[in-house]
Amino acid sequence: MKDKADVLIVGSGPAAWTAAIYASRANLNPLVVAGFMKGGVRGGQLMTTTEVENYPGFVDGVSGPELMEILEKQARRFGTEVLETDVTRIDTSKRPFVVETKKGNVAAETVIVATGAYAKRLEVPGTEEYWNKGISACAVCDGALPLFRDKDLLVIGGGDTACEEALYLTKFGSKVHIALRRDVFRASKIMAERVMNHEKIEVHYNYQLEKVEGEQFLTKAFLKGNDGSSKELEVSGLFFAIGHTPNSDFLEGEIARDESGYLLVEGYTSKTSIEGLFAAGDVADKRYRQAITSAGMGCMAALDAEKFLAEQTQEV
Ligand code: NDP
Repeated sequence: MKDKADVLIVGSGPAAWTAAIYASRANLNPLVVAGFMKGGVRGGQLMTTTEVENYPGFVDGVSGPELMEILEKQARRFGTEVLETDVTRIDTSKRPFVVETKKGNVAAETVIVATGAYAKRLEVPGTEEYWNKGISACAVCDGALPLFRDKDLLVIGGGDTACEEALYLTKFGSKVHIALRRDVFRASKIMAERVMNHEKIEVHYNYQLEKVEGEQFLTKAFLKGNDGSSKELEVSGLFFAIGHTPNSDFLEGEIARDESGYLLVEGYTSKTSIEGLFAAGDVADKRYRQAITSAGMGCMAALDAEKFLAEQTQEV
């Protein structure tokens, strides 16, 4: 196993592979430590997405796993090495950094953290069975699928993401329900008002998801009210928008993060609070969270790492 790297990339989603493509083409011989996301597969959130229709360059769409395979092959073509294991900790107190993995330590001059985030899901009866069969955690990714066209849909959550997803889904669904567990939106006033005033959206305050049912695909969602009442909704789509959790626990205490754990970057760059450590993709982006924006951030991180290494060499 390689125990030294100029550029070590942690992750295996679009940000990680794009960083690897750029770094390998710059002859920096990157090492990708492709970890396993919660759930045990590598490749990030796209591994649990079916059809990706909004990634530029794929006229007829591409499946999430296939897209990851293509990006990985492209990165390997230019000499990227891949280590299949999880990073458990990065000691940033000395240079080179010591990247601790389940297969041993690697000394890295620069590190690009591209470990992504995972969308929170509710686990109630039926949600596991109908995951990807009507249930999704990303309306922007999946909302336009034929499965959801002209059908009644349900969004769970009351934050900005839930509002944005509900509004987006009105383009495709015949009606959009949104259920929130309190009597007030957490979302910004403007987003909440747009949702409340939209003729295709019905808001269910004080309701939580109790269970879902279906046949081959989802057909029904049952809501339980805080007052004990129940509602049965005939829906073909259910979208969780109850927040994301960035995969940054292994950096706790090492680096500046916001209150939710997202890595903080300096302005429009990938620079973190630690010199030589860069961040890309959903682990540093709670706003856009798209495969293409992650890929773009991966490119930025590789260019920032390249520039940093060049400056270090000049200083010596
Ligand atoms: P938030 O944490 O803001 O909201 C999560 C929502 O999910 C809340 O309504 C919360 O309810 C609800 N929720 C959480 N857990 C459960 C549960 N177990 N059961 C039912 N409901 C639950 O997450 P978002 O993803 O919406 O937003 C994250 C950040 O990104 C925010 O800062 C947001 O402003 C920002 N953002 C901005 C956008 C924009 O400006 N256009 C677009 C998207 C996001 P409760 O309120 O009761 O806690």
